[in-house]
Amino acid sequence: MTCVNPAQWTTVKERLRSEVGDAAFRSWLQPVEMGNVEAQTVRLTVPSKFMRNWIESHYGDQIRKCVRLENPRISNVELIIADSKETKENNAPLQDNAPVAASNPPVTPAADTIDILSNPQQFTSLLDPRYTFDNFIVGKSNELAFAAARRVAESEAVGFNPLFLYGGVGLGKTHLMHAIAWHIATKHPKRRVLYLSAEKFMYQFIKALRFKDTMSFKENFRSVDVLMIDDVQFISGKDSTQEEFFHTFNALVDQNRQVIISADKSPSDLEGMEDRLKSRLGWGLVADIHPATFELRLGILQSKVEKLGAIVPQNVLEFLATKINSNVRELEGALNRIAAHAQFVGEPLTLESTQRLLKDLLRANDKKLTIEDIQTKVAEHFNVRVSDMHSARRARNVARPRQVAMYLSKILTSRSLPDIGRSFGGRDHTTVMHAVKTIEELVKDDKAFADDVEMLKRVLG
Ligand code: ADP
Ligand code: MG
Repeated sequence: MTCVNPAQWTTVKERLRSEVGDAAFRSWLQPVEMGNVEAQTVRLTVPSKFMRNWIESHYGDQIRKCVRLENPRISNVELIIADSKETKENNAPLQDNAPVAASNPPVTPAADTIDILSNPQQFTSLLDPRYTFDNFIVGKSNELAFAAARRVAESEAVGFNPLFLYGGVGLGKTHLMHAIAWHIATKHPKRRVLYLSAEKFMYQFIKALRFKDTMSFKENFRSVDVLMIDDVQFISGKDSTQEEFFHTFNALVDQNRQVIISADKSPSDLEGMEDRLKSRLGWGLVADIHPATFELRLGILQSKVEKLGAIVPQNVLEFLATKINSNVRELEGALNRIAAHAQFVGEPLTLESTQRLLKDLLRANDKKLTIEDIQTKVAEHFNVRVSDMHSARRARNVARPRQVAMYLSKILTSRSLPDIGRSFGGRDHTTVMHAVKTIEELVKDDKAFADDVEMLKRVLG
């Protein structure tokens, strides 16, 4: 009998706290409790569907890992909603988190066969209902990918095969693939669509090998009208899976079946991939998704706020769009967190409460701030040239802004004093120290100057 006892659960929670940090732990993982344990499955309870989705997508893998560290015999960890007022369907396992299937040994082999091919209902139940074309906000950075995805979804005979979507994490690749699947499933229910992560592809393949069932594996994959493989970079370095994928891919393309692939890099930049596969992947349309611009980030936030039905002041949205510029998933996460907080605690959102609630996230995004960014902003603000930041000129009107920039470099980046000195025309670290002291003194006495510095701190930090 496998079991996770309360002491073990406490250890798991402590480990999670140290991994995700105190703030994130308190917001999300603290309320997770151990439910029942059955054979090798542990069920954890969470207070709401919203929390469950959030925790699953952000911490699911980490929770599984920590539970297994404590008790390796646990093969399955499920999150369920504590108050079962919510329907059973809400408790269905989440998809897209492919590792759920791949990292768990096949506890119930039957549940993970390729039935999704022949069972459209089951198939759509695996798609994220939010990932539709309607919910996708289009901007310069993703318009090509969006247009191509729509084309593939809307017409049977498309001029490009495969469609290869690539871009950094959280920029909407999976969203677009699900959107294609949704569209086809509703408009052309007869077409057989298969969406799966490359990881799951590998898992299915290995299982077929193990059960000596490669024939039906091949047949299943080769009988679809549209095959979508998400995060193909996963099979880098996995030679036999690549080999099989290559053959599947060729068989489908030869029969004019549509193939859609996503990856984090362009075909030619995929490391650990066979050359022939790389070149084949680049034959169709290669569409990259760039990081969202400020306008797009703001647009996405506005649309999400509407959907959440939350009240978030415009200055908070602008603040988020400015500060969280790495990926849309993080942006969404930040919004969900503050909206959830406002809802639970019932206090209106302000810039201050937002900063407090998102401290950890903001700090992670801040790391990218460079001394050059600071010099540029400060020069702009005081109307001096960026080159004056490096020059030897000592006139007050350039020396003061330079000191401000040094001061801000010290407090907003983790660079050392000598490092900062070097970035300011090779000055000595004592010069930087002096600048920091001078500015600290000045802001105490001069209100207008203090406001200037405060303003700069906000736009930069
Ligand atoms: P990827 O697969 O590229 O890592 P996802 O498709 O999982 O990224 O996107 C991450 C999150 O950001 C999802 O919740 C998705 O809905 C959202 N998202 C990304 N781009 C957009 C967009 N242009 N409009 C609306 N939501 C977006
Ligand atoms: Mg993805």
